[in-house]
Amino acid sequence: MDLGADLRAELVRAVAATIERHAEELTTLDQAIGDGDHGLNMKRGFEAVLADVANLSAKPWPDFLKGVGTMLVMKVGGASGPLYGTLFMGLGKDLPAEPTRADLVRAFRGAITAVQARGKSERGQKTMLDVLIPVAEKLEAGVVDTGAITVAAHAAADATIPVKAVRGRASFLGDRSIGHMDPGARSSALMIESVAKVLEKA
Ligand code: ADP
Ligand code: MG
Repeated sequence: MDLGADLRAELVRAVAATIERHAEELTTLDQAIGDGDHGLNMKRGFEAVLADVANLSAKPWPDFLKGVGTMLVMKVGGASGPLYGTLFMGLGKDLPAEPTRADLVRAFRGAITAVQARGKSERGQKTMLDVLIPVAEKLEAGVVDTGAITVAAHAAADATIPVKAVRGRASFLGDRSIGHMDPGARSSALMIESVAKVLEKA
């Protein structure tokens, strides 16, 4: 097993543990402005990824990420399943087998563009993109401090609270979506935090 496989397995374990730990919170957020399934959806998805961690992490980065994305599409469901699936599959599609930091930043932006195309969505509509896009901008600006990335991700999720939802189920509520954090923005920030923590030690 090469170092890459260890790191990939650790990333899966870290993200799955974070989602498990916060599943109830994500569900509560989705109860306020959606249908209350986001925590359960994400938990189901990452439990499936975790169950297949040995097989997935043995694959090189592009196939690993595509495998994770495919699993999320199959298992998460809802709107977030296809969208997070697209994110991870997009990362895998754009990444060389031995990625540099620059490759990673480029692939992250490409994957976000794919999510936008799939969701017909953009920044400012109270979705996961409101976290993913500012994080991509930080990375593109050359920020390497994982702590700063984590802070930016959580600040971006917090910033969805006063926003009116324009996409997803929450948009059905119109002005009543104002005053609640977007569940997908929260799950994105949590995933970014756990990835950052693992990469910091790598
Ligand atoms: P569902 O809304 O089908 O119940 P989830 O509850 O699992 O699915 O996920 C909801 C999250 O998905 C939202 O909080 C939002 O962040 C994200 N989302 C929904 N629609 C879109 C979209 N068109 N573009 C980007 N993100 C979206
Ligand atoms: Mg939901």
